[in-house]
Amino acid sequence: MTGDDYLDVLNHARANGYAIPAVNCTMSPIINACLEAAKKANAPMIIQFSNGGGAYMAGKGLKNEADQKAAVMGCVAGALHVRALAEFYGVPVILHTDHCSKALLPWFDGLLEANEEYFAKHGEPLFSSHMLDLSEESIEENMEISAKYLKRMAAINCFLEVEIGITGGEEDGVDNSDVAPEDLYSKPEEIYQVYEALQPIAPDFYSIAAAFGNVHGVYSPGNVKLTPKILANAQKFVKEKTGGDSDKPVYFVFHGGSGSSREEIREAVGYGVIKMNIDTDTQWSFWDGVKNDEAKNNAYLQGQIGNPEGAEKPNKKYYDPRAWIRSAEQATCDRLLAAYEDLNATNALR
Ligand SMILES: [Zn+2]
Repeated sequence: MTGDDYLDVLNHARANGYAIPAVNCTMSPIINACLEAAKKANAPMIIQFSNGGGAYMAGKGLKNEADQKAAVMGCVAGALHVRALAEFYGVPVILHTDHCSKALLPWFDGLLEANEEYFAKHGEPLFSSHMLDLSEESIEENMEISAKYLKRMAAINCFLEVEIGITGGEEDGVDNSDVAPEDLYSKPEEIYQVYEALQPIAPDFYSIAAAFGNVHGVYSPGNVKLTPKILANAQKFVKEKTGGDSDKPVYFVFHGGSGSSREEIREAVGYGVIKMNIDTDTQWSFWDGVKNDEAKNNAYLQGQIGNPEGAEKPNKKYYDPRAWIRSAEQATCDRLLAAYEDLNATNALR
């Protein structure tokens, strides 16, 4: 889903009080587990690639040089896989890419070139949206660069996600595990600054990953406290400043949701979160599926021939990747069905 169709999905989510899971995918089994979960849950799905995920999709035998070509090509390959299958699964799928810092802008430029090429042929971009994460720069520079890119993206109906403030923890090589706690909470004024910078360029064609005590990854509880109320206060502030009708003038994105309770997630959704990223929890579910498969079939996985049923018995059906990777897919699908519940999105398309 791209352009206005994508906005329709987001507005359906906001109006009906649910959010869409956005899953970091690094290989086709994870993509297919996402599509399977979306079909079972009868709900939309956001499939996203990180820079490292894209490079992995392209194959680790290729070096991802400074031009980021391998990461670009891997993301394009993943997107084409999704496009070939999504309609067949019969669920709305949104294609997105994750965090892009200033150093990775060549990756972003490459993705936009792929979108522009696709748009010229098909009248829509290859990806529904992309994230630009310049939260390590000043908010002025963040907005200046984001506005420039949004202008280019709006011309091909591509949506932009930006980040302000700092998401704690560590993900894909960005380590924020030692920042000062006060920097982990966005101020309403900062969120309004984003609105002021981007709304005139492409109304409602952007979302904001704000900091409300969210942390990438799963950690034992520290001194950072998830505070969804920050999002409610920001919505109120923007509404007052603009004098608009909507109680939720901003689309919020929830990064670092792993380990949050259903209650906390639903509170954030109530304040206008329309997308929640999932990475760590599906990395675990995928591994957990393999782990349990190996434990169950251990005696059949020690050699190509020979198991408790006989020294001559073949083990092909146990070590075939389709067997144990299928267990990983099923465990991941189950984890995503729980995420749909957390996000109040089960059966969202009924
Ligand atoms: Zn993130």
